[in-house]
Amino acid sequence: MSAETLEFQAEARQLLQLMVHSIYSNKDIFLRELISNSSDALDKLRLAALADGLEADTSDLHIDLEVDKEARTLTVRDNGIGMTRDEVVELIGTIAKSGTAELLRQVRESNDAKELIGQFGVGFYSTFMVADRVTLVSRKAGTDHGTRWESAGEGSYTIDTEADAPVGTAVTVHLRPADEEDALYDYTDEWKIKSIVKRYSDFISFPIRMGEETLNSMKALWARPRAEVSDDEYKEFYRHISHDWTDPLEIINLKAEGTFEYEALLFIPSRAPHDLFQRDGRAGLQLYVKRVFIADDSRELMPDYLRFVKGVVDAADLSLNISREILQQDRHIQMIRRRLVKKVLSTIRDMMTAAPEKYATFWREFGRAVKEGLLGDSDNQKAILDIATFASTAGTEPTTLAGYVERMKEGQEEIYYLTGESRAQVENSPHMEAFTAQGYEVLLLTDPVDEIWVEAVPEYDGRKLQSIARGSVDLPKNDDEEKPTEGFDPLLGFLKSALAEQVKEVRLSHRLTTSPACLVGDTDDMTPTLEKMYRAMGQEVPRVKRILELNPTHPLVTGLRTAHEQHADDPALTETAELLYGTALLAEGGDLDNPARFAKLLADRLSRTL
Ligand code: ADP
Ligand code: MG
Repeated sequence: MSAETLEFQAEARQLLQLMVHSIYSNKDIFLRELISNSSDALDKLRLAALADGLEADTSDLHIDLEVDKEARTLTVRDNGIGMTRDEVVELIGTIAKSGTAELLRQVRESNDAKELIGQFGVGFYSTFMVADRVTLVSRKAGTDHGTRWESAGEGSYTIDTEADAPVGTAVTVHLRPADEEDALYDYTDEWKIKSIVKRYSDFISFPIRMGEETLNSMKALWARPRAEVSDDEYKEFYRHISHDWTDPLEIINLKAEGTFEYEALLFIPSRAPHDLFQRDGRAGLQLYVKRVFIADDSRELMPDYLRFVKGVVDAADLSLNISREILQQDRHIQMIRRRLVKKVLSTIRDMMTAAPEKYATFWREFGRAVKEGLLGDSDNQKAILDIATFASTAGTEPTTLAGYVERMKEGQEEIYYLTGESRAQVENSPHMEAFTAQGYEVLLLTDPVDEIWVEAVPEYDGRKLQSIARGSVDLPKNDDEEKPTEGFDPLLGFLKSALAEQVKEVRLSHRLTTSPACLVGDTDDMTPTLEKMYRAMGQEVPRVKRILELNPTHPLVTGLRTAHEQHADDPALTETAELLYGTALLAEGGDLDNPARFAKLLADRLSRTL
């Protein structure tokens, strides 16, 4: 193939604009990004040789930094996996990473791009902060020619064949003149380069060389005692493995000695990645065997509900060319996983008391994912419930279940909750009335996953979890307000047949104080929100009929009883029944089947009262 000039994809162009106009205050990090990419490429080559049997020389994997003071260039060269022409176009010419697209969206909406952009990694394009031209020459291992890519960071780039390029990738930045006031330093200065490598890339496991000299210690961070490693070193390492630019919330070290040795260094991020709830989201830990990188995104080491945990596990006794299938079965891996999970959960538990604000951040960002564990991980169900917090009618701050149990009223045996789509909706639902009136606390569960886990968790600390919108409520008797129950049977019978399409039963209620009616489910019925969720996912679910409960002291209900006693066959009664049902549905935030009909019935009725 010959030389071509290609346009950058639109998003890539926008990002480049941001880079060229150098909105980062810290431009030094371009070198870290290039080294990080080289390190990844070296890992990939070693892995391909090991696992896929690719013929490649992996005896001297390294990164070279080459300076040309005359030409004012700095070249980062690796002998890693390299890229084909198509890959260069795909990986360098477009922004495949949805995280970057997300960054751009936020930049567009915000006035402070500088603040924002520091939170996102922009990788290769960061070179344009310091360069007015960047050349990349790459040859993929196992192919017979290379590719040359070049761009000035404006709208387009050129791409051409380079016949005799060595395997690997060399990126040459043609440096802009130094401008120290703008934090654009002289990146041909050896001292400057050394200090950047030391600061950001010391832990990289391949030698980073300048001439004869190796600039990094290559010490595996996880193998060093915690006291010897600075916070900054941990943070840089976290960035390298997570591609997240915000600092981690928590760092966890773990070391097991004895028959099966391993070390782990785990990070809990401070922010949920944009793809936390996408099926193909990046997940899992890196697996090493005696300092040698074996697998990325190793999902075997963490259950799905802790997929946001980043880090490294280095196991001493695994085979180097262990396959994914074997990993899943491996007894040692399962042992490590059990221990890691316990450690993560206990760390969060400690955080709750030692650093409540940190915990609040954690739960806000990851609580939704963690609660998924209540479904799958029965071994740790109690531990997960212990670190969970929920919105509650007791106040604006979320509460633990233990806190709820402590506040339970005399004679209260169950933990009350109500699920729904938003706090406002749930809080104002008619189901809440008697509970509020009598001072019972109710948990307000509004995450989609709440609808599901509550079914799987029978109790906490011996107290049953009870939905206040299901079954019949037996609040301890309230003597000063004994409700009348006599003489309603004919009305209940009439309503049941008039609303046969909508409800399966009509009965008097104990849970209402101000509303005329509400809808409740049977103990095992699916909730309306869950029904809706299933439909939204395209699943067919049978329509669940609920129970209409009436407030026997409400004037609408007593009036209806009288009207029914006097003219049982008045057609207006059927319309009133429909209105009553529709009102109950609206009050809990539900959707009417036929809103136009409801509106018409209501308008007709109102106009007669004027
Ligand atoms: P990221 O590293 O976060 O994926 P970058 O912008 O740094 O984003 O790099 C984009 C992609 O280009 C990398 O994921 C990798 O596939 C490819 N790439 C970049 N540098 C190299 C390199 N030195 N060797 C091989 N591939 C590379
Ligand atoms: Mg990168």
